[in-house]
Amino acid sequence: MATINSNYSKLGAGYLFPEIGRRVRKFLADNPGVQVMKLGIGNTTEPLTPTIIQGLHAGVDKLADVATYTGYADDSSGETNMKEALRHFYQQYDVSIDLSEIFVSDGAKPDSGNIQSIFGIDNVVAVQDPAYPVYVDTNVIAGRTGQFDPATGQYQGIVYMPCTEENGFFPALPDKKVDLIYICSPNNPTGAVATKEQLHVWVDYARAHRSVLIFDAAYTAFIKDENLPRSIYQIDGADECAIEINSFSKIAGFTGVRLGWTIVPQNLVIEGVGQGIVNSLWARRQNTFFNGASNIVQAGGIAALSDAGRSECQGLADYYMKNAHVIKAGLQALGYTCYGGDNAPYVWLKTPDGLSSWAFFDRLLQAAHVVGTPGAGFGPSGEGYLRLSAFGHRENIQKAVESIRINL
Ligand SMILES: *Cc1c(COP(=O)(O)O)cnc(C)c1O
Repeated sequence: MATINSNYSKLGAGYLFPEIGRRVRKFLADNPGVQVMKLGIGNTTEPLTPTIIQGLHAGVDKLADVATYTGYADDSSGETNMKEALRHFYQQYDVSIDLSEIFVSDGAKPDSGNIQSIFGIDNVVAVQDPAYPVYVDTNVIAGRTGQFDPATGQYQGIVYMPCTEENGFFPALPDKKVDLIYICSPNNPTGAVATKEQLHVWVDYARAHRSVLIFDAAYTAFIKDENLPRSIYQIDGADECAIEINSFSKIAGFTGVRLGWTIVPQNLVIEGVGQGIVNSLWARRQNTFFNGASNIVQAGGIAALSDAGRSECQGLADYYMKNAHVIKAGLQALGYTCYGGDNAPYVWLKTPDGLSSWAFFDRLLQAAHVVGTPGAGFGPSGEGYLRLSAFGHRENIQKAVESIRINL
């Protein structure tokens, strides 16, 4: 008799974005012809840059000739010139990475979801609250949690680390020992960016407790402040305790193209297990479940990391960050309290009048025809906030801010 993985039944039925979609569709059905401005989902809108298009085209052309055709790679971790380009990328931050530590993938979401599978089921998981839902949900599915408690908005067994106005949206150390710690900086959804000093506290904690940090760096390319860290490995000792996950999605517009990477240091230490073991477990996991990122897409990724590609991608980042400024400055001028948006493409808007996230979502939709993402969907500490995404066309962003000014 076959059975199913009953952990799936612990997951909340209504995932955040389907519920947003349902409410928007209902609004449009009730208000035919009205145009809504979507600042909800963090999805790129601007076209790939010329250098990347050229790289992708060259990748296709290689497959048309028997002399340059390639099929499966020898192993799933990525083409050597792709890894060389990533090693070079880290060198600009004085971070030295060995090619054996780089695992090219089809994106940061799969990697941040799959990484938990190489760790024991008894690890205590800690997440920032609010957080990107993948970290929690994949640990629920793996069986590392108890049931969801609707009263607290939390799964039993997960340690939620509140990120609030009071702590600058970066968590304090937990008062109990935790083993797997997910940190995302620049943060989705709050737009907060951890300083070197803040990350140092966590690296020291992880080394002292033999915990592992899983550092999601998907938005580092949007950092403008020169003093803020772009990689966890800019912190001394992080190579002993941290895995870093990154992506071409947001910075190069690869959300639909699919390319990311994960760094698993050879120096990563696990109590009672030798150095290098985590690295070889991840290699084993990827070689078992994954046949490598697309060769065409890797050609695009290498182009994105070339000097010309990087300067064009900087242009994309500047465009979205200008949008973030339009949102943040526009709403602040109207008296709203806003966080994030300076070094991250998300503005974390405090709801006015003590409204709940969903109540303010509805008011914004009904009165201003603007769609945001209710902060409560990212965890209990997101209650009372709304995330506005800077991914969008400028005209649409400007219209949204103007509509809030006129209608709210
Ligand atoms: C968008 C995003 C990613 C990127 O995922 P891909 O699978 O590479 O598209 C990763 N982490 C966070 C927090 C994100 O918001």
